Amino acid sequence: MVATRERRIRESAAVPAPAAGGGFDYDVVIVGGGIHGVGVAQAAAAAGHSVLLLEKSALASGTSSRSSKLIHGGLRYLESFELSLVRESLRERALLLRLAPDLVRLVPFHIPVFRSTRRRPLLIRAGLSLYALLGNLRPACRFRRLPRSRWDDLDGLVTRDLQAVYRYFDGQTDDALLTEAVMRSAMSLGAELQVPARFVGAELGAGGCEVRYLSASQGTADAKERTCRARVLINAAGPWVHRVLEAVSPAQRKVPIELVQGAHVEVRGRLERGIYYIESPRDGRAVFFMPRGEMTLVGTTEVRFRGDDPGEVHALRCERIYLTRLIRRYFPRLLPDGRQGIVRAWAGIRVLPAGSGHAFHRSRETVLAGDRENAAGPPRLLSIYGGKLTTYRSTAEKVMERVAPALPARRPVADTARLTLSPP
Ligand SMILES: Cc1cc2nc3c(=O)[nH]c(=O)nc-3n(C[C@H](O)[C@H](O)[C@H](O)COP(=O)(O)OP(=O)(O)OC[C@H]3O[C@@H](n4cnc5c(N)ncnc54)[C@H](O)[C@@H]3O)c2cc1C
Repeated sequence: MVATRERRIRESAAVPAPAAGGGFDYDVVIVGGGIHGVGVAQAAAAAGHSVLLLEKSALASGTSSRSSKLIHGGLRYLESFELSLVRESLRERALLLRLAPDLVRLVPFHIPVFRSTRRRPLLIRAGLSLYALLGNLRPACRFRRLPRSRWDDLDGLVTRDLQAVYRYFDGQTDDALLTEAVMRSAMSLGAELQVPARFVGAELGAGGCEVRYLSASQGTADAKERTCRARVLINAAGPWVHRVLEAVSPAQRKVPIELVQGAHVEVRGRLERGIYYIESPRDGRAVFFMPRGEMTLVGTTEVRFRGDDPGEVHALRCERIYLTRLIRRYFPRLLPDGRQGIVRAWAGIRVLPAGSGHAFHRSRETVLAGDRENAAGPPRLLSIYGGKLTTYRSTAEKVMERVAPALPARRPVADTARLTLSPP
């Protein structure tokens, strides 16, 4: 049944997307080729719309190649009672494990509890039980406490003052490869991609918008300004979300946000048993130690981004020191030579709601903001704020629901909950 549907989808890919009609070049134009932009491109093309995606650098060149690369429910969001986010994430995780088995795999996660750990075993057990419940008690949501006899088998994790270790399962991926795979899927349904193509402005009119962007013709280096008309413009520019809004006329309201950077470091040495989720004794934040080929990836931090251009974000000295201390404390064998053992370090930017208090405790819910929030008429522009790699597909579905009143009825050609994704 699914195979037949997939075949039909592939056959329909040979058919170009419908002309937008009514003086429009596209139904939907998207700014940003991160996971959200490509997710919307896939959802819009699946719904039968003509789509153009503009990306200024390369697909996944922003936050979508700098994440912790986890497809997870977000166990720690239970602490801030973001239950619907956790439920949605676990549902998307289950879907992606099925649709993209070569890109997303289930990995054992370990939570060690030391004498100094603030989250005590009882709390962790309660959290994991609720996590399993929100995941509909699927086998992938099972957890257990590891017996002491197994502790020496945990990749050299220090065992001094260790009181308990819990093991559960979550997903790991390659964020950039996943982004590219979703774009390939969108293109197979007729979506167009222009890269490099920099959005430079848009004028919103009575029933749509004129979009201006810079791009070079094939085989030439000189970028020229081009225009196209779209019924709806989707701002999926991640940390550049306000930059894009500032180039739209008439002037648009901005959702108050804070840009918070998160760094990872990569060190030599392989973790054989999976991922470790360890609380920092300094501030109670949880940090991941993750296997990546022959390397181990450790992150993240949360530091307010103070630069002008999100493209210049990099791991700061204080972030390297913070992560190095944790590695030396919990996995000293990974850094026998001190900080010199760090092979690579980089940072990405989270778009979080503005607010007081530590960024770690701020909501991770995605916010969608349209140009006509309080006025009559369908939206001509919708901006995506924040979000998670894990929930890109459900976010794209919500985007399509919000902009549906601005789009003509089309015959859907596919269902994103059934489209398989694979590496090239
Ligand atoms: C450190 C860190 C770790 C994370 N870990 C996880 C995790 O493990 N699991 C998880 O689910 N989520 C995680 N997240 C969240 C997740 O990575 C992000 O929500 C997601 O990648 C954001 O994608 P995006 O498409 O919104 O933005 P981006 O990936 O930043 O994409 C925006 C794109 O817009 C383009 N662009 C900007 N301006 C223009 C313009 N004028 N014209 C054309 N193109 C433009 C940029 O070049 C960029 O490619 C993490 C986030 C961070 C910061």
